[in-house]
Amino acid sequence: MNDIVIIGGGIIGASTAYFLSKTGRKVCVFERDPAYKKASFPLSLGGFRRQFFQKENILLGKFAKEFIFQLPDLLETKNDGKPTVSVIPNGYLLLFGPEHAQEQYEALKNHKACDAETKNVKAEELKKFFPWINAEGLETATFTNTKIEGWIDPHMFHAALKNKAIELGANFEKKEIKKISDINAEIIISAAGCWTNELLSDIPVFPQKHTIFRVKCPNHISEMPLTGDLSTGVYWRPEGKEYLAGSPNSKFDAPDLEPEWNDFEDIVWPALAKRVPVFEQLKLTGGWAGYYDCNKLDNNAIVGKHPKMKNVYLATGFTGRGLMQAPGIGRGLTELITTGKYQTIDLSSFSVERILSDKKRTEPYVL
Ligand SMILES: Cc1cc2nc3c(=O)[nH]c(=O)nc-3n(C[C@H](O)[C@H](O)[C@H](O)COP(=O)(O)OP(=O)(O)OC[C@H]3O[C@@H](n4cnc5c(N)ncnc54)[C@H](O)[C@@H]3O)c2cc1C
Repeated sequence: MNDIVIIGGGIIGASTAYFLSKTGRKVCVFERDPAYKKASFPLSLGGFRRQFFQKENILLGKFAKEFIFQLPDLLETKNDGKPTVSVIPNGYLLLFGPEHAQEQYEALKNHKACDAETKNVKAEELKKFFPWINAEGLETATFTNTKIEGWIDPHMFHAALKNKAIELGANFEKKEIKKISDINAEIIISAAGCWTNELLSDIPVFPQKHTIFRVKCPNHISEMPLTGDLSTGVYWRPEGKEYLAGSPNSKFDAPDLEPEWNDFEDIVWPALAKRVPVFEQLKLTGGWAGYYDCNKLDNNAIVGKHPKMKNVYLATGFTGRGLMQAPGIGRGLTELITTGKYQTIDLSSFSVERILSDKKRTEPYVL
């Protein structure tokens, strides 16, 4: 019998394998597609932030920064040395219109309680910090500019976690799991991302297609933070000499991962040009789509032991923030499994029980 089996070798599976292996547990990870063609993490924007409403999400974002900045030392291996990680700590800037302002003022209380080190300004003051912005229609904005938020290359992040887990004794095998009951192990962890509902029919996590556009602009502002305009739902960040911009439109039951190209002219470009006037001159150079692991109940993580199954744990439903939450979730699940309770960040409000009893705990700041 296996000690611990993890279903899904994406970013959550790899991180959990790393933290468990560090404690000496024997871990086997089953991944059906080691090329990760449709997995969420390689198609993500790589962003890590602490600007959320709920304290758990703020704390997980803070831990992401801590982990990512120490990654070369933590994940050094004998064969490959210190992993190279491409981290751009340009910060995040979230923009709020009057319809979201009150909620943001509430969120700031949680930022303060968690020492998130975020700054908040009225719309009129925005140009002092970000001269390229047109603040029309905005009421307030929250940002960091002290290199504590930003983005990381998702492939490098995943490879570093996986390689270190393997060095510590984890085994990654190519295998598709059809039913959880097919596995013989002391402990089973489902880290199947947006496909979780195929294995656990009582967990409302489904693939939700999101499109990202690659654009070029003659005027390049390389220091721009990852900016989310909550008044339109459009978000963007620099990528080398270009930019990446996400559409607020999303689709369940999408038959394929073809980007929703019409969104660019219909929604994204007008929103970008209004907010950043130099973006009037944008040119579309490419794009892709990927699946969010959407928790349809409340857009929030589902983590912990399944109360109706003897030895099954799960971690899913991150709804667009699983990459940054991977270190904190891997560490938290390891604490739960090895000691019976969370030791660092208390993740019990993400429990599976909340889902089964339909208790929403909505995280509003989904980009
Ligand atoms: C466009 C886009 C932008 C995003 N931007 C960000 C961002 O900026 N920051 C951030 O933190 N997050 C972001 N995300 C979200 C993030 O990518 C996901 O939340 C995260 O990847 C979830 O990790 P996971 O390991 O659970 O799922 P995945 O990365 O999808 O991995 C799950 C793995 O499980 C495997 N699997 C599934 N079922 C089975 C089975 N039955 N048997 C064997 N293997 C199985 C799959 O093949 C897959 O490889 C973004 C996502 C998208 C699509």
